[in-house]
Amino acid sequence: MDANAYALSAAGAAAITVCDDEYEDLLQLLLEYRAVPDEASARIAHWIASAAMGENHLWQDMGLPNREALSELLRTHFPRLAAKNVGNMKWKKFFYRELCERAEVLICKSPHCAECSDYALCFGPET
Ligand code: SF4
Repeated sequence: MDANAYALSAAGAAAITVCDDEYEDLLQLLLEYRAVPDEASARIAHWIASAAMGENHLWQDMGLPNREALSELLRTHFPRLAAKNVGNMKWKKFFYRELCERAEVLICKSPHCAECSDYALCFGPET
């Protein structure tokens, strides 16, 4: 991947270095799933996509108090996308799984999460 780094800062988040491709793909996914296609939700999509390039849990890199605050934000502004996360997967993992499915790239080690050796990575606690 061509990592053309640049810095973005968003409300509550520090400057984050991101890679164009991942950022753009995730941004596009979020924009498509907005409940209301307005400027406010576009800014939230940018905020999420830029924070997702960080190294910590997404809610941490967004400057939110906990994972539930992020879940609530997603349920409010991207309800159809949030509803797809039926197993309560970690949000960043969930987003990338969505992107991989779109690209028809199989990243999972198992056809069923319950039997997968990566279960803790995808569903473990985010503290
Ligand atoms: S637990 Fe395994 S099968 Fe489920 S999403 Fe994660 S990698 Fe894929």
